Amino acid sequence: MMLIPDAEHDDLMLTDRPLVVCDIDEVVLEFVTPFQAFLVDNGFELRPTSFRLNGNVFSLEDGVETGKDKVAALLEAFFTSQDQWQTPVTAAADSLARLAEHADVVFLTAMPPRHRAVRRRLLSQHGFDYPMIATEAAKGPAVMALHGARTQPVVFVDDIFTNLQSVREHVPDTLLLNLMANDTFRAMAPHPGDGVDIADDWAHAEALIRAHFTPAAA
Ligand SMILES: [Mg+2]
Repeated sequence: MMLIPDAEHDDLMLTDRPLVVCDIDEVVLEFVTPFQAFLVDNGFELRPTSFRLNGNVFSLEDGVETGKDKVAALLEAFFTSQDQWQTPVTAAADSLARLAEHADVVFLTAMPPRHRAVRRRLLSQHGFDYPMIATEAAKGPAVMALHGARTQPVVFVDDIFTNLQSVREHVPDTLLLNLMANDTFRAMAPHPGDGVDIADDWAHAEALIRAHFTPAAA
């Protein structure tokens, strides 16, 4: 069994097939939309005026901007009860199931590892039965630890610029896909940087991944 530094994870036994490393929040589970609903339920609102949480959360009662510590506490409470809020991203389960016929799929989430058990249950409820790594460390070294010197094609799917660029730095041959479920925040997102392809949705991502696995014979 493989061990990834600074992470908690399921048993990881890769086959000799291609590898798809896939983020969770905003990629296979909705995050922004349910977090907005959670905030309203708790007397706050997320105003989508820029691509960030801090500075965009306000009290519904008096309209005052919510401080960083309170936003962090709300996020913690949200992750604790994520199984009551988060739902699958459209087509993610079907796309991954098709890809998993030809590739190993591993989830890599930046969520604090203490919420691992509830997330594992939530994923399995929705048919996402792939091993999960939870770490707050950079994603590039984690993908490097996973893939090592293997020669199979590798794909990394994430909504966050810094995660994509971290993997680009550590495993340069990776096909890097930027995918974000929430339309409003996707429209405000910074460009994911050089070497990253932007996928509109899972159908698009799946097509790009298949093309990477099977380069045209030409
Ligand atoms: Mg994410």
